[in-house]
Amino acid sequence: MTAPPASPVLAAVAPPPPRARPQWPCPPGVLCVRPLPGETTASYLARLAAAYHLTTAQLLDGHHITVTGSQQQPPTAELHLNHEAVRRLSCFTQIPQAHLAYALPGLHPPPPSLADGPHPRAHARWQALDPALQPLPACTSCTAHRTRSRTAAPPAWTHPAPGSPRLIICIRHQQAAGDPRLPAPLDTRPAPEIIHTHRRAHRASPASMSWATAITTRWYDHRQHLHQRWRQRLETLLDANPHIPHTPASPTLTCRNLITYPETLTLAKTLDQLPPHPLTHTHETVFLHHLAHRLHLHRLAPADHDLLWQRLR
Ligand SMILES: [Zn+2]
Repeated sequence: MTAPPASPVLAAVAPPPPRARPQWPCPPGVLCVRPLPGETTASYLARLAAAYHLTTAQLLDGHHITVTGSQQQPPTAELHLNHEAVRRLSCFTQIPQAHLAYALPGLHPPPPSLADGPHPRAHARWQALDPALQPLPACTSCTAHRTRSRTAAPPAWTHPAPGSPRLIICIRHQQAAGDPRLPAPLDTRPAPEIIHTHRRAHRASPASMSWATAITTRWYDHRQHLHQRWRQRLETLLDANPHIPHTPASPTLTCRNLITYPETLTLAKTLDQLPPHPLTHTHETVFLHHLAHRLHLHRLAPADHDLLWQRLR
């Protein structure tokens, strides 16, 4: 069996337990800006600085934290802190270091270049992120709730949990995003099947999700099998989300993961039911009939070059 096309999206690892929401008291005089689960350090510092009407650079300078690297902004870059800088951040926010490290995956471990010497000095360094690894815009309602500032909260940028689809989905507020080129998440209420699907996402194995993502991405790009349904879902979301930019990347691309998600999960769960050995011709026919039924298609007749065949044979 041939491996699917390289997919940095889905690692074949067991999904971790859901992140708990740590709580801590907020002392008087401290602006309570809490990190979101999986938030990047650069995103959290930008929101924290904004609460005090500062820039990230001013906030770090005020705590005598030396910054190196070309200053950038989330989501294209992450800000790495050494232990002394994390200690100062913890003192300032009154949030224990363990809680900060739990919520902010970028805090651990610090890069070797930021290791503390015998006389530790607070140090931070900007590092550009590969587009495939950039964080996604978090739910705006959750972000506002965790900022508690009288000023408008800057957007928060978070990483999906390891082993999960490359999507940020808030079931409570029905917002979702699947591409860092989106400035904000989408309101998915006009397409409720996306949230409905996400409630069942844990039922598919990561390996099958990786295959299914590669297959549906190919179908989407080549306008195969489900083109009309996906086109209609995209138009529905565009109507409900006028903030989606049309440049530099088309919404057809920036919304792809989200548009195909319901069918990707259905395909993944169907692939999980396959036997470990290659299918006979009869079994292939039965499987395609069953898959078409699960996808609500009258028939499914993939061409010889369809990526689905690589998984079946
Ligand atoms: Zn939310």
